[in-house]
Amino acid sequence: MIAKAYDGLEVLKGVSLAVEQGELISIIGPSGCGKSTFLRCLNFLEIPDRGSVTIKDVTIRRDGGRWRRSDEAQAHRLRAHVGMVFQSFNLFPHRTVLDNVMLAPRKVKHVPTAQAEAEARDLLEKVGLAAMAGRYPATLSGGQQQRAAIARALAMQPDVMLYDEPTSALDPEVAEEVLAVMRALDHDGMTQIVVTHDMRFARAASDRVLYMEGGTIVEQGDPDLMFADPRDTRTRRFLRSIL
Ligand code: ADP
Ligand code: MG
Repeated sequence: MIAKAYDGLEVLKGVSLAVEQGELISIIGPSGCGKSTFLRCLNFLEIPDRGSVTIKDVTIRRDGGRWRRSDEAQAHRLRAHVGMVFQSFNLFPHRTVLDNVMLAPRKVKHVPTAQAEAEARDLLEKVGLAAMAGRYPATLSGGQQQRAAIARALAMQPDVMLYDEPTSALDPEVAEEVLAVMRALDHDGMTQIVVTHDMRFARAASDRVLYMEGGTIVEQGDPDLMFADPRDTRTRRFLRSIL
């Protein structure tokens, strides 16, 4: 469960979610309903006011108290399990694609350079960017940059990947390359949570869809069932407005 307010305004009103290993969950809902805040609370990029998050062997509880240095140390351990990908690819512009992918394993995990490079090249191969290893981010298409960002997150061997509108800045054809990578990761058993406006992807690729509105999960379930016959009138209204 997570609750979070900004300046007294409750943005997350007690959102609970248990994720199975290997699940691909899509979170949909209107702008401003708290999707990004929820995702960011999961790895403590935002600090929830109340509630708890458990990922693997790390649990952090919040009861409205001050955020302490020891909490930050726990958050650091928790983040080691989580890879995050944003709408704006956030690659380091002055480093090659290969360096972008190698950097964190070398600096944070002290992986030897040769090993970090071998693993980075494997990941670039996996996301279809083997030929782009020596290029700088600005010379890549948006879809290629986003795939590089995914490879960079994977390089830290996360247990769960979080994506905040990973394809919203991309043209549809290019978005498809990114979604294909996410489908392949799902096939490999990666646990993934995706905030998306791409209803086709949410329906076709997810194991579960969550509909959020007003800081709560209004409805969740099997994508086909939910898109075909939403139970809640709010979900129905939202889907009707966008489909
Ligand atoms: P979504 O991702 O669903 O569009 P957000 O999680 O970004 O929604 O935002 C939820 C609500 O919280 C919005 O009303 C937004 O204005 C507010 N909000 C988000 N971040 C902040 C912040 N750092 N400070 C104050 N209000 C914020
Ligand atoms: Mg958002």
